[in-house]
Amino acid sequence: MEIINLGVTLFNNYLLKFEKGYVLLDAGYTTDYPTFLKKIEKAGVKIEDIKYLVLTHVHNDHIGYMKELLENTSIIPILHEKAEERLLEGKNRLGDCSGFLSRCLSFLSKISGKSGETWDPIILDERKVYGNKDPEYFKKQGFPITIVELPGHTPDSIGILTDDGILFSGDMTINGFPALHRKTFLIEDLDAYKLSWKKVLDLNPKTIYPCHGKPFPIFDMQKYLKKAENIRLWKNK
Ligand SMILES: [Zn+2]
Repeated sequence: MEIINLGVTLFNNYLLKFEKGYVLLDAGYTTDYPTFLKKIEKAGVKIEDIKYLVLTHVHNDHIGYMKELLENTSIIPILHEKAEERLLEGKNRLGDCSGFLSRCLSFLSKISGKSGETWDPIILDERKVYGNKDPEYFKKQGFPITIVELPGHTPDSIGILTDDGILFSGDMTINGFPALHRKTFLIEDLDAYKLSWKKVLDLNPKTIYPCHGKPFPIFDMQKYLKKAENIRLWKNK
């Protein structure tokens, strides 16, 4: 597998090259489609060779150009069934903050309008695949990938684990300020989040690639387990 990052370090947008074709993880912000087209061209990738879009969850920085992709290509979206109604809602559902710094930044992001960004409802057609119902879907298509549910940040959060031990975690983990100790930034369901943390430890990947921040080893998740168990939420208002 080859990993191409079409984003920037803070907002990764991974395009994965497998023998059978490309898999794209998430779709940036709503204004990112022209940049996406330029970047794949530069990487020598034809858009029709991107077979699947894995949507890790519905937040505005992940679904941005999903509508354009669905309308202009035959890409197959893979997502949690709970994502579907959120795509139709056209605005973020945000959880509470995982720490005081997260709360400050969430406030700033709200007043700057970034997290309040809305989108036109995204309606899925018969191409859709519910990854939570068919975690082995990719295996059946000849891709060395398992789909894993990682709820907590949002209920529709999923990640993918490759056979060579790389977990693409979506926003279940974040590697960078203001989210400390690899914790995510916003949490809708804290109990589910703590269970997802343990699930990642059980899966025991070698390396974790979060959507925000640089990759890091599984050792970090072991090291910060206590921090995760002791998270208390700060109301996001
Ligand atoms: Zn998110």
